[in-house]
Amino acid sequence: MINFEYTRVSSAKAAVSTKAKHAASQFIAGGTNLVDLMKKGVTAPQRLIDINALPLKDISNDAKGLTIGALVPNSVAAENNLVTEKYPLLAMALNAGASAQLRNMATTGGNIMQRTRCPYFYDITMPCNKRQPQSGCGAMEGYNRMHAIFGASEKCIAVHPSDMCVALAALNATVHVSGAKGEKKISFVDFHRLPGDTPQLDNNLQTGELITAVHIPSNRFNKSYYLKVRDRLSYAFALVSVAVALEVSDGVIKSASIAMGGVAHKPWRLTVVS
Ligand SMILES: Cc1cc2nc3c(=O)[nH]c(=O)nc-3n(C[C@H](O)[C@H](O)[C@H](O)COP(=O)(O)OP(=O)(O)OC[C@H]3O[C@@H](n4cnc5c(N)ncnc54)[C@H](O)[C@@H]3O)c2cc1C
Repeated sequence: MINFEYTRVSSAKAAVSTKAKHAASQFIAGGTNLVDLMKKGVTAPQRLIDINALPLKDISNDAKGLTIGALVPNSVAAENNLVTEKYPLLAMALNAGASAQLRNMATTGGNIMQRTRCPYFYDITMPCNKRQPQSGCGAMEGYNRMHAIFGASEKCIAVHPSDMCVALAALNATVHVSGAKGEKKISFVDFHRLPGDTPQLDNNLQTGELITAVHIPSNRFNKSYYLKVRDRLSYAFALVSVAVALEVSDGVIKSASIAMGGVAHKPWRLTVVS
């Protein structure tokens, strides 16, 4: 077993400053992805910074839209009345993910930050440019049935596995971030990255930054659906998924927003149809 230190923090400021002090540390929220990665030797943080005591568990709504705290469990968000009534697409996507037990532990922030499920990333005996830059890519000539069909590079064909993020991309969400330089907001479509020459970077969050919330702007979409195609009806990642939000009036589609999951290194927005 690899030893690590553990610190529990109670404010976003303390989380950010503790991270700045300890370079080889990682935040832990629900732990459903990070602990697996540690057990498999994919990552070995010297310190875990437990953020579960932070006051980031609220869901609130105003005229501008809905804000979901980074520590809201996926199951709580999926069952929240504001979410089910105003943003049913998000509730559908959340309920399509993982299992009930996992959704009870998984958080909004952790879901956005979860890493790829590419088997070569998890198998430390295999080359993987995402896990170990410049080591090669086992998936390229290997088992790659669940890999990227859009936006891949010669270095990496892994996909982002989240269901929730596909709905957030279609709903034009914004990620709220706290860091050493203060607060900032990142548009959801700009949050995750394509692999290019740096597949080790999943997203544009800078070292030490903490996700505090996700905001979904009010919209006129009155029809939406999340369709996930997978090998099993439950507890399986998407082969491909699609989040569709439409504004329909008198039988005519006035506006549309569509994103796909399981097909690229990031949720894939189909901007031409929007
Ligand atoms: C068997 C299994 C099946 C699954 N199936 C699906 C599925 O079908 N669909 C799907 O979408 N997901 C699926 N998941 C993934 C699951 O949704 C994620 O593991 C979960 O959302 C991660 O959230 P967490 O709070 O547990 O994150 P953690 O494991 O605690 O953290 C994950 C990463 O996020 C970082 N992090 C956490 N919170 C923050 C924050 N606020 N700011 C910055 N960084 C942060 C951590 O440092 C870590 O790097 C599955 C997982 C498992 C184990």
